[in-house]
Amino acid sequence: MNSLNPDPSSRLQPHKHPFIDGKPKKLLIGGQWREAVSGKTFTSINPSNGRPITEIADAGAEDIDLAVHAARKAFETTWRKCKPLDRQAILNAAADIFEKRYEEFAWLDSIDYGGPISRTRSGKRRHVGLLRYYAAQAVSLHGETIENSLPGDFFTYTLKEPIGVVGAITPWNGPVGNSLWKIGPALAAGCTVVLKPSEQASLSTLMLGQLFLDAGLPPGVLNIVTGAGATGAALAAHPGVDKVAFTGSTATGQAIVRASAGNLKRLSLELGGKSPNIVFADADLDEAVPGAAMAVFANSGQICSAGTRLFVERKIYEEFVGRVAEYGRSIKVGEVFDPETVIGPLVSETQLNRVCGYLEAGRSEGARVMAGGRRLSEGDLASGYFVPPTVFGDVRDDMKIAREEIFGPVISALPFDNIEEVITRGNDTSFGLGAGVWTKDLSRAHRLSRELQSGSVWVNCYQAMDPAVPFGGYKMSGYGRESGIQHVEEYLNVKAVTIKVS
Ligand code: NAD
Repeated sequence: MNSLNPDPSSRLQPHKHPFIDGKPKKLLIGGQWREAVSGKTFTSINPSNGRPITEIADAGAEDIDLAVHAARKAFETTWRKCKPLDRQAILNAAADIFEKRYEEFAWLDSIDYGGPISRTRSGKRRHVGLLRYYAAQAVSLHGETIENSLPGDFFTYTLKEPIGVVGAITPWNGPVGNSLWKIGPALAAGCTVVLKPSEQASLSTLMLGQLFLDAGLPPGVLNIVTGAGATGAALAAHPGVDKVAFTGSTATGQAIVRASAGNLKRLSLELGGKSPNIVFADADLDEAVPGAAMAVFANSGQICSAGTRLFVERKIYEEFVGRVAEYGRSIKVGEVFDPETVIGPLVSETQLNRVCGYLEAGRSEGARVMAGGRRLSEGDLASGYFVPPTVFGDVRDDMKIAREEIFGPVISALPFDNIEEVITRGNDTSFGLGAGVWTKDLSRAHRLSRELQSGSVWVNCYQAMDPAVPFGGYKMSGYGRESGIQHVEEYLNVKAVTIKVS
């Protein structure tokens, strides 16, 4: 595999990309691009039209073993000993290249997972910012000195040490960002990485692998192994892995907890959600309508913290939900490279069928379809996996569409009468990732921010994400935090040193 082209944007065209060169994509192990030991590949499919994009190496247990050994060697011989300023310099060098070539990554993600180019492009500030934030963290790690009460004269301090080899496993719904969210903190902490991206969208992560080599990252510090669930399972169970950093579904998270038991790996789990988004009658409805709509429709609903349970105060329920439905009908579902497109396809046929199953469940349980409700099966987009923005009204708390994560552009709108009731109902879920509150009443906003059981609460906004602000789950949405100063701590061990001074 060649280094990235210095001016690739001149060669970018819809559904063509310099990185997609007709040759099967290889694994990055120990600084070398290599085929899977078995020689097997799998096919990456373009969700906009159902056609193959390229073949990708399908890593098996032997490849995982090679990658983990490469990561261990790099940890012991180079990265663990690399000075913070040098780790920072490499992360910043990667950020510089990434910023210059961002367009190339945006296009590749649009082709690979179906994110509209308007969305994949708009991630630039956040994604470059993530890398720079972790670069800053690399030189900000410190232990502490501790006053103790031991008899005699003792001096106690703590050291923060990198955990070791990290197995990182990511989903498809924002490929380049998901990968940076693992690579950044791990490298800043001094850990080495074996990263397995989603089989639905591996390409931008592979391109990142080359970018980090170009930025001067020593061989073996970042290894990328592609494949499906079995590849991830082999990584999660490997005894040479010290920590697994996982983002994905709750069911897979539970499998990873079980797989990690062998050597009691440290875990951080960013899992699913069914987040409440609560609109009071006193809210600025002109802000809340698009806010509530895009809290779910953005990325075709393929966002873990999407505000899919839309609770609306009863006295404005009909008007408000009607306006959200209208908003959903007004945004463009279309070809991903059309700059006007807001809603692209779902990532795969499997995901399409899953979402359509929920649309059917909503109808059969008696919810009222106020917008969308069926996949696009006619016209230019029929060969892709497109579902238009969908709003279900008259939803009850016990309906399947109000309880289970759909991961599609589907809002379940529920009326409520008072604050006590909406707190109870908002928290009546096994998940706890995000929550939204729309109101002008400050006391109510503070009260709900405390009472809602979720890792993030957004007031008069939704999914406002920043590299410095921690993000993660309560309950079955997982544990550990990404972003914020807490994130790098997930990759560090704390060692207490006590010295008898006299
Ligand atoms: P998934 O759990 O099916 O897959 C995620 C990753 O795990 C993929 O790379 C997959 O190959 C791998 N995998 C599958 N089975 C495995 C196993 N047994 N052992 C190890 N790895 C395995 O999830 P998905 O369908 O790709 O993504 C959607 C899910 O991710 C949703 O539930 C969504 O809420 C969640 N998600 C959460 C966050 C967050 O930050 N909390 C962010 C994005 C997505």
